[in-house]
Amino acid sequence: MAYIKLSANNLHSNLEILAKKTDGYEKIAAVLKDNAYGHGLSVFAPKVASLGITHAITREAKEALEIEGFFRDIIVLSEHKENFFVHSNIIFAVNEFDTLKFVPRGVKIALKIDSGMHRNGLNPEELDMALGMIKRKGVILHSVFTHYRAADEIGSCFFWQRENWHAIKTQIVELAKKYSMNKPFFHSHNSAALLRCNKFDEDFARVGIAMYGYTQMPEVFGEFGLKPVLELCAKRVSKRVLKVDQRVGYGGMFTAEQELVSSLYDVGYADGLMRYNGGSKLRTSDGSLILGRVSMDSLSVNSENEEISIFNDADIWAKEFNTISYDILVKLNAKIPRFFV
Ligand SMILES: *Cc1c(COP(=O)(O)O)cnc(C)c1O
Repeated sequence: MAYIKLSANNLHSNLEILAKKTDGYEKIAAVLKDNAYGHGLSVFAPKVASLGITHAITREAKEALEIEGFFRDIIVLSEHKENFFVHSNIIFAVNEFDTLKFVPRGVKIALKIDSGMHRNGLNPEELDMALGMIKRKGVILHSVFTHYRAADEIGSCFFWQRENWHAIKTQIVELAKKYSMNKPFFHSHNSAALLRCNKFDEDFARVGIAMYGYTQMPEVFGEFGLKPVLELCAKRVSKRVLKVDQRVGYGGMFTAEQELVSSLYDVGYADGLMRYNGGSKLRTSDGSLILGRVSMDSLSVNSENEEISIFNDADIWAKEFNTISYDILVKLNAKIPRFFV
């Protein structure tokens, strides 16, 4: 079966770059949702914890429970309100006002505010009511947060939203006084917002893609020196020599113009690799040409190697498929073995 190598050195180097921005590892919340962006939650969580990360973010409660022992707190971004429970270090994001009515006493929550993305979050006008209800119900307000819609884009949008958020924080501080509650933690930065930030002044940043070694930011924002952590590798199943004019794979998308070696490797689109159609010149990490279409469980490559690195830079596949690195990474099937080297 294919396997995934994770580079401990590259992870460490990325975290160093991010910790310089936040002024310390304790202000980085590792976003580990969706199987740690395809890197493997069960291997990635203990690794970042061992490097000194104390906050984590997941999508569901199930993932948080799997890694609860490794972190001081874990924020669950999109669990359904029926599944909220009291836990010492699991915090549930509340994404709309109505949800608050259903939160049981003692549950820790992170209140999401809509500062301009208009995807979810409480409306700023609802804040007084919300904090009043939190106080009355005995719900524990761990933090208040927002998410930027255009942190990785050029333009004024990011600055406009940051101003909105600033005003919201001021309001929260006043409301916390009014209801004699402790001031909650504040967090708003994702990778892009943190990377373009010169003076970080929040309690932590929620960092996903940059920790894994990527950004989607245009070059004008500079070079950050991030290095991809993940490498997808496969093993040879068989080998043959193609004669001139022989065509390879479904639809015969590749035609041999000269004699060449074609080996079949054990990774395909059932493993979450995108179904490359063989129409362009997509190559493996060492520059070997992929021959024809990707099949369900395999692909052909002009190589004799017993093992091959399909990619160690997801951006190459992202470009081929007109998508983003996130999309290439998260799709990698959870059953592929993963380990740090
Ligand atoms: C996924 C996510 C992040 C991380 O974003 P990156 O761009 O990967 O750093 C941060 N906050 C929220 C709410 C998210 O959903």
